[in-house]
Amino acid sequence: MSTFQAPKGTYDLIPPDSATYLAVREAIAAPLKNSGYGYIETPGFENIELFSRGVGESTDIVSKEMYAFETKGGDKLALRPEGTASVLRAALEANLHKAGNLPVKLWYSGSYYRYERPQKGRYRHFSQVGAEAIGAEDPALDAELIILADQAYRSLGLRQFRILLNSLGDKECRPVYRDALQGFLRALDVDEDTRRRIEINPLRILDDKRDAVQKQLVGAPMLRDYLCDACKAYHEEVRELLTAAGVTYEDDEKLVRGLDYYTRTTFEFVHDGLGSQSAVGGGGRYDGLSEMIGGPALPSVGWALGVDRTVLALEAEGIELELPATTSVFAVPLGEEARRVLFALVTELRRAGVAADFSYGGKGLKGAMKSANRSGARYTLVAGERDLAEGVVQLKDMESGEQTPVALVDAVNAIRERLA
Ligand code: AMP
Repeated sequence: MSTFQAPKGTYDLIPPDSATYLAVREAIAAPLKNSGYGYIETPGFENIELFSRGVGESTDIVSKEMYAFETKGGDKLALRPEGTASVLRAALEANLHKAGNLPVKLWYSGSYYRYERPQKGRYRHFSQVGAEAIGAEDPALDAELIILADQAYRSLGLRQFRILLNSLGDKECRPVYRDALQGFLRALDVDEDTRRRIEINPLRILDDKRDAVQKQLVGAPMLRDYLCDACKAYHEEVRELLTAAGVTYEDDEKLVRGLDYYTRTTFEFVHDGLGSQSAVGGGGRYDGLSEMIGGPALPSVGWALGVDRTVLALEAEGIELELPATTSVFAVPLGEEARRVLFALVTELRRAGVAADFSYGGKGLKGAMKSANRSGARYTLVAGERDLAEGVVQLKDMESGEQTPVALVDAVNAIRERLA
């Protein structure tokens, strides 16, 4: 061990486990790539105001969890705590919305940073794959995103997840509800923190995990009863489209989510094997966000799925992904000439698309065979002076133990045929 350790709340992805993370990222991205979403990458930090205006000054994410700093040049920046605000900023900056092809559909994958109290499934550095569909108000688009996330999780073999669905209303009906809820909450006997929250972010209180608070909330006005006709019809259509697609969901009228920008459709994917940090992904519609960050009106919808928690969900369900072997062929040279010949052969195999590795460092046969075993290779190539004199290399099948000489000139083809 060195003097240093990974900072608190972070961890390193290390082989062989890191392969699972890559596979999860790819599995989440695959349905998006297949549905018209283009890849976008934005910086790991942004002007702090993008998040305070976009995500919301009153949210935990902005008020407590943001890594904010001032550069030597005096710029006030923050490590990105989430992806949506950055992606929308980038789309507006590049005028993607003006290309006459709405919605602009984008997907991304990257690192996010929140100064949270670390625990299992909750880290200060974590990884998300996300998708945003910018500039269209269409219930089919909301449904599409939920269906694609469901497809991604299912493609990984996950089954013990549930989809929670709600509508948060729009700028017509939500303020009316907010007033009604505040009226109800102000009459309660609550701690100071909650009292402050009543004034700045009352909907968030519905989400309070404490039993005592939940008991006090019995009889609180529910948003469902305040939705305007347009919001009701919109939500009903999202639900119908999901049902028609065979995607099951649960209506959760207390689902408000921790970001201020959501309107109408909101949803969360929760996994039942994860304990308290059960949300594996979430998202919703954010029709007002573009205007909040100085853009034109662009109704949009998106989600972000957590890679770390998705990996934990796989573990909880005992799922081991079938990952392609990292090495198919491992070469073990015996002697100096064999080293040159086999190294050239390995290079050729790699250029032909065969995953191949080589015994480096001048190990003896025993040590080299150990490395071959550890590599998980299906075949080992061994060659000594006598083999080379005969123009062959020995191909050892690591499953059967059987060893056959193959002509050196034909080795690449012979190996490819066997692996096919
Ligand atoms: P949110 O933007 O908070 O809805 O986050 C979307 C998803 O990102 C969550 O469902 C989690 O899977 C993941 N996530 C959020 N915060 C963290 C964290 N601190 N550690 C690990 N994963 C997280």
